[in-house]
Amino acid sequence: MHIINKIKESTKSDDNHVIFSFEYFTPKFPKSATAEARAEIADAFIAKVARMAAHGASFCDITWRPTSADVTINLAGRMQTEIGVDTMMHLTCLGMTLDGINRAIDGAKSRGVSNILALGGDPPVGAPALAAVEPAKVNGKGVPVCGLDLVEHIRLRHGDYFGLAVAGYPEAHPSKILEGSDVATKEGYEEDLVYLKKKVDAGSHFIVTQLFYDMSFFFDFVDDCRRIGIQCPIVPGILPIVSYRSFQTMTKTCRTKVPTEIRETVERLKSDEVALAAYGIQLATDMCAEILRRGIRELHFYTMNREEPTLAVLRRLGLVKGGETVPRVLAVKEEGEEKKSVANGAKNLVPA
Ligand SMILES: Cc1cc2nc3c(=O)[nH]c(=O)nc-3n(C[C@H](O)[C@H](O)[C@H](O)COP(=O)(O)OP(=O)(O)OC[C@H]3O[C@@H](n4cnc5c(N)ncnc54)[C@H](O)[C@@H]3O)c2cc1C
Repeated sequence: MHIINKIKESTKSDDNHVIFSFEYFTPKFPKSATAEARAEIADAFIAKVARMAAHGASFCDITWRPTSADVTINLAGRMQTEIGVDTMMHLTCLGMTLDGINRAIDGAKSRGVSNILALGGDPPVGAPALAAVEPAKVNGKGVPVCGLDLVEHIRLRHGDYFGLAVAGYPEAHPSKILEGSDVATKEGYEEDLVYLKKKVDAGSHFIVTQLFYDMSFFFDFVDDCRRIGIQCPIVPGILPIVSYRSFQTMTKTCRTKVPTEIRETVERLKSDEVALAAYGIQLATDMCAEILRRGIRELHFYTMNREEPTLAVLRRLGLVKGGETVPRVLAVKEEGEEKKSVANGAKNLVPA
């Protein structure tokens, strides 16, 4: 099923129905791993996705690394057919051959996967910087090198078979953030929006955002997308802070602006893993509650392949109960409802 149909269903209903989704990175195998050990790692991955999906995920994604293409394609197929969860396979194209790209798309299709997150990806080490790459103007001639090319390529080759999504950047793509600055230039941000609209107009059904911690970037981004005529759903990407190291790595790589209060709290708790994880869960819960309060009904979690932080956030939001699947109706819209949730033990659902 195309994921967009699930999103449309959730927005059509008038019962505050919320949908949520989980993203996993393709597991890495140690170089020395035997075939048996690899199979064990793959099985453990599938078991984890199955456990989490059972909580009612509307879809799950698996990330792409060109160096482990076959692993990703196989696991995406297993997620779709063994677990039965609608699966969105990520696919990057920069640095891939046309044959490699087509093998990935065809491989996904032959395994029953019908949703792809079409990405440009990052240039391989030593390759020209992103801004210097010429769009391939594919139309059957060139090799896709950016998200726009890939959307066009998939539509050209497979028509409407795939449900497609693309990446969006509430703080603009990192290439638009100049050295020495922590925010994009206004011009760079606007260029990025115009380019994003092209990706949507080329046939992408929805946008998944890069992670963010400053909520104002996300809400402004949604408004700005609407201003320039992007009408499709914009699904916020949420990364609960799970450890100091991963927080540092992710925010540095993605050039995420972290509000001072959050930065200071993370620094204060950095030597206490348990306290930091608890803070990360509460912060993500508060962010999600605010997003839902503003009428957005889709939440996408960067799980970092960890079960508990994301499930804890969903429990606090009242979207997952214990180990069981419960009707996914947001428990925090009305004043009365909010009190009921707090009485049930779900505290701080909506920031004051
Ligand atoms: C939701 C999400 C999932 C991701 N999953 C993965 C993953 O699985 N594997 C992985 O390796 N990386 C992943 N990434 C990271 C991603 O590969 C990098 O952010 C990469 O630098 C850009 O990918 P993109 O698809 O946004 O690129 P593109 O759509 O190609 O564009 C990136 C930026 O480059 C500029 N640009 C590129 N082409 C053009 C053009 N033709 N005209 C004008 N401007 C252009 C724009 O500023 C644009 O925002 C993900 C990112 C997000 C937000």
